[in-house]
Amino acid sequence: MLSACVLALQLAAAAQPELAPGARYDPRIPTIKQVLGHDFGEQITTPEELPLYLRALNQAAPDRTRLSEYARTWEGRPLWLFVIGSPERIAQLDRVKADLRRLADPRGLSRDDGERLIRELPVVTWLMHGVHGNEISSSDAALAEAYHLLAVQGDQDVQLVFRDSIVVIDPMQNPDGRARFVVQNLMGRAADGDATPVAAEHDEPWPGGRSNHYLFDMNRDWFSQSQPETQGRITALLEWFPHVAVDLHEMGGDSTYYFGPPAAPFNPHITKSQIASFDLFGRASAVKFDERGFAYFNRENYDEFYPGYGDSWPILQGAVGMTYEQASARGLAWKRTDGATLTYRDGIVHHFTAAIATVTTAAKNRERLLKDFLEYRRSAIEEGDKSSAREYVLVPGVDPSRALALARNLASQGIEVRRAAEPVKVATRTIPAGAFLVSSAQPTGRLLRNLLDPHTAQDEAFIKEQDRRRKLRLGDEIYDITAWSLPLLFDVEVVPSPSRLDVKSSPVSTAKNPPASAPLPPAKVGYLLPWGTATAETVSEALRAGIRIRHAGKPFALAGRKFPIGTAIVRVSENDAGLAARLGPIVAKHGAEAVPIDSGYQDEGISLGSASVVALKAPRVLLAWDTPTQSQSAGWARYVLERRFGVAVTAIRVSAIDRADLDDFDVIVLPSGTYAPLAGDEPLRRIRDWVRRGGTLVTIAEASRWAANERVNLIETRTELRGGRPEVEERNTSGASGSSGSTGSGSSQSGGAAQGSGTTTQQAFDYNKSIQPERERPENTPGAIVRVTTDQEHWLNSGQDGELQVMLEGQRIFTPIRLDRGRNVGVYATRDKLVASGLVWDEARDQLAQKAYLIYEPMGQGHVIAFAEDPNFRAFTEATELLFANAVLLGPAY
Ligand SMILES: [Zn+2]
Repeated sequence: MLSACVLALQLAAAAQPELAPGARYDPRIPTIKQVLGHDFGEQITTPEELPLYLRALNQAAPDRTRLSEYARTWEGRPLWLFVIGSPERIAQLDRVKADLRRLADPRGLSRDDGERLIRELPVVTWLMHGVHGNEISSSDAALAEAYHLLAVQGDQDVQLVFRDSIVVIDPMQNPDGRARFVVQNLMGRAADGDATPVAAEHDEPWPGGRSNHYLFDMNRDWFSQSQPETQGRITALLEWFPHVAVDLHEMGGDSTYYFGPPAAPFNPHITKSQIASFDLFGRASAVKFDERGFAYFNRENYDEFYPGYGDSWPILQGAVGMTYEQASARGLAWKRTDGATLTYRDGIVHHFTAAIATVTTAAKNRERLLKDFLEYRRSAIEEGDKSSAREYVLVPGVDPSRALALARNLASQGIEVRRAAEPVKVATRTIPAGAFLVSSAQPTGRLLRNLLDPHTAQDEAFIKEQDRRRKLRLGDEIYDITAWSLPLLFDVEVVPSPSRLDVKSSPVSTAKNPPASAPLPPAKVGYLLPWGTATAETVSEALRAGIRIRHAGKPFALAGRKFPIGTAIVRVSENDAGLAARLGPIVAKHGAEAVPIDSGYQDEGISLGSASVVALKAPRVLLAWDTPTQSQSAGWARYVLERRFGVAVTAIRVSAIDRADLDDFDVIVLPSGTYAPLAGDEPLRRIRDWVRRGGTLVTIAEASRWAANERVNLIETRTELRGGRPEVEERNTSGASGSSGSTGSGSSQSGGAAQGSGTTTQQAFDYNKSIQPERERPENTPGAIVRVTTDQEHWLNSGQDGELQVMLEGQRIFTPIRLDRGRNVGVYATRDKLVASGLVWDEARDQLAQKAYLIYEPMGQGHVIAFAEDPNFRAFTEATELLFANAVLLGPAY
């Protein structure tokens, strides 16, 4: 590639840092240049090239390496593990791994055995690279790490690494994202390469390379495991139980290098010995960085609170988990604002230096790290044993498929979950058989308490400081969400038991429902499927298979059983012969319940032939795609529809929606975003006319706020400013728009608290009051779980029990819609009941209470359904994902 060569030559003229100054390398180990044609930093190694080099290293050193594929991405790219160790251990890897797993479970491990394992086992250092596909240097650093460890000669540190450790390199966690980055970078590259930050080669078009195919941030996916990449990594980690796990990233090009110790706040389940190890590894990297004059920082920005990061999840399994961050050249070179040029090679060398310091430090502290690991898992059992929640009982509620999904989610993270075969008694309560039991007294106790406890405490001093900062409008230092309790988000009731529960039970496996070919039992009239996640999945697949299904818009009782609103009805008379044989496998696959009925005569409520029983159809869905949608919201919605509920989706770029025939679709989903391209009179008229002809428009989060904008007015409510005033656009009397100097004295303003009036001049000057902003969005909520009360008479709430918890993030507050305009089918709870988990400041709590979460507005033959928040948040908000699926699956029928 000529252009790259020119740039490489220019950069070579500047001093390019050596990988390891003075190192001598074994010529029998191939260099990257010999295999791929470029040296480290001359090119961004592509996802296709990367395994070619690893294979060459594996072939040159077969006795010291193992290369294996651990999963495939959505786009079909392989994910690799490259294991480096002594020939003796590589030859007996299965035995070593079995011993590593024994060390991870202190139960049944005798004192002698424990001591023997600590004496004999290697410390395992797991180095993960490039989970964010546009954070490019770390994957090339992975190749440099592998080369150096295999080729360097006469290096005592590396000899120790082979003697006392195994290094596992995950070189490229997100090849789909990396591929996306590399293509756009090459496409945009100037003849000589351009270091200008805003140059096209650095400036990624939507959605950028950070995320995977479904646009997930996989560094938030660890306990959710929604993506195959994460599932593969977790399976691999649970085979090995590494003692040190590092996730290597990139950050903005003007920064330096970050390694631990991390910033506050810490997850409260991190132990003192782990914190001591953060310092041990931080100091060791600092020594190497100081030797070479590389700048770095620690204790800022990157915290260890949220349990779904690539470093925190291994921490909660007992490892020393760490994140490293390198300033990104976002290409081959980047002009920093201080005038210096940061090269791609710089980034590789920095990551390489930190990684080699880490594997060396791990080897030097082998015994300590193994002891700490064993002690972490032993003390987790002891702590759980003494916990007031010695055992958690997950109670299957109106939608038992959600409890099962939660049980399986936990089991696939190495958490032992049992299903009770008999009723469970906790205090005065008796929970029927079929409940799930999770004991805290197990080696993964700290991880499971993070996921099952309603609240994970944040350090008080940290919260106090954030309170001070926000009051001064300094912005908070909260890195991610403050709540993630899975039972709340799955809307599964948990009953904690202070004592061990001795009931007959069987372990829950992670296996999906076995494919069953068994037909349903025969039925004269048909089958009733109570609504829930599994039923929605079943109905979606059955509709696509051509089975005719109806949906009960009101409750009824039949054959002595009550069926709540939303029950799906499959009639024999409306379907072809062989219904039982066709429907049976679909019901079994999704784990739904189908009740055969021989009579349609109800005991109470509506009849099966009532006008309130509507025919469903497989919806044709248009999902707005590309800019200005927020890519995560668009990706989550697409994933939830396509992969969770099996709903076909046509993703159409917002810029092309005017070319689409809207009548080809039953549902339009607008993911979070501000849709300026659709705000003109003509696009809005088209959308409104389509809704009136029977369309279902679903808007999410910022798209709902856009729809509530007075000019757009697709829903007839408004968002609020701080203090409760409607968020209408500022109008300047002079007619100029967007003036920042507007005084707000226009007649349209009302209720401004800070407005001056004749009487205030009599009082002493109030400095604090005088500096309050005049027009401001509501107080920000940094990601918390709040309660919503649902209107159980509305079909949108099929499968819900009247109250659920939702993930709330940001500053959107919707005034409830008036009764003559629509219905508030989900409303935030009253102030005292509002917060289920996490940090919600008082001002936000005051203003959010009883405001609208889910708004329904009929329009002609169709309707608009507006979610105040993203119901598909990271795809771990199971209960609200069902609300979203209801909107899409049921909307066209009503
Ligand atoms: Zn990153």
